[in-house]
Amino acid sequence: MVLAFVDLDAGSLTPSATETLTLARELASTRGEPLRAMTFDDSGRHDDAPTAAELTTYGVVRWFRVAHPLLDAYSPELWGAASAQLVRTLAPSAVVASAGDRTTEVMAQTAARLDLPLAANCTTITATASGDEWRLTRVRNGGMLLEDAELVASTALFTVAAGAIEPAPASVVGDLTTETFSPVLDDTLPHARVIERTTRGDGVTLASARVVVSGGRGVGGADGFAPLEELAELVGGAVGCSRVATNNGWRPHRDQVGQTGTKVNPDLYIACGISGATQHWVGCMGAKHILAINTDPDAPLVSRATYAVIGDVGEVVPAVVAEIRRRTPSPLPLPAPGVGADGHDGDRPDL
Ligand SMILES: Cc1cc2nc3c(=O)[nH]c(=O)nc-3n(C[C@H](O)[C@H](O)[C@H](O)COP(=O)(O)OP(=O)(O)OC[C@H]3O[C@@H](n4cnc5c(N)ncnc54)[C@H](O)[C@@H]3O)c2cc1C
Repeated sequence: MVLAFVDLDAGSLTPSATETLTLARELASTRGEPLRAMTFDDSGRHDDAPTAAELTTYGVVRWFRVAHPLLDAYSPELWGAASAQLVRTLAPSAVVASAGDRTTEVMAQTAARLDLPLAANCTTITATASGDEWRLTRVRNGGMLLEDAELVASTALFTVAAGAIEPAPASVVGDLTTETFSPVLDDTLPHARVIERTTRGDGVTLASARVVVSGGRGVGGADGFAPLEELAELVGGAVGCSRVATNNGWRPHRDQVGQTGTKVNPDLYIACGISGATQHWVGCMGAKHILAINTDPDAPLVSRATYAVIGDVGEVVPAVVAEIRRRTPSPLPLPAPGVGADGHDGDRPDL
């Protein structure tokens, strides 16, 4: 069996979870094994039906909901202890998770508790039809090195780099069995307690946005983000930033993209006045397309971008906003993922 550790956002699969499930299903298929899934849910909603439907779509046949009162808030130690107990019980040939902050922490905890090897940030994983041998390529040194490696283990643990896998639902789906796994937990382990829950706004999150409009030093200050906010709203995207913007107090840290911020994998990343230092690049390199707006044609991000506009961000972004407004009398939000599978976005103007 291959076990996918599926991260949820308010009870729904995250984009990285769909990538994880796609790869885990391929590995399971190569080995002729079933695909199972493990989830934790700290959303406080506990509505299983939508999650079950999504897991079925991705080929999962058995779903373990890990549940315990101490797990209702995220804790790496407690979630790791619970995950280790389930992995020990199931003895899967592999456990596959996304390389997000939480999933990586939980997988590291699991590996350490069970003394199993963990290959982090994989871009490809190849299973042998049987046996304990796996081949993989993984990103190291913050994206500067791709390492080819072999892993031999009775249970191999992997995390998958964001954007490395194109998510695809299963061509054949079966019936899903749902099971609650209740671990035995030590309440002396460090854990968080939920004091209050507040609802998030309707806006898309940085990690799941299909378009991210990000600003750096070149934006010039907190006020300089206003046109970026406007552009993001017009295209149904989210605003991100570089560390210079957070260090200067122009944006909160939750908006930061990069090694010490959020790793994003949108369809389009619009980098406004960002040079593209390695620590920023590792956060946005999962984007399918990058548009760099920069006065410096030699900026690293300009060289790596799919498209570049050499110019002042203070002029270019307002011009783009004005052109979108001219073409669309009323703002059109991006369609939900899955809509417009032909690659066309209806009347939404091309950027
Ligand atoms: C341990 C560590 C972790 C880090 N983690 C992160 C991280 O998570 N995320 C992150 O972003 N950084 C991180 N950094 C910082 C990183 O090294 C860079 O310093 C930072 O990304 C630079 O931000 P910037 O591109 O906005 O600024 P700069 O490097 O100063 O670049 C500004 C860019 O704006 C352009 N520009 C200037 N004026 C204009 C204008 N009017 N119009 C258009 N373009 C203009 C310039 O040509 C330049 O390319 C980290 C550093 C360390 C040491």
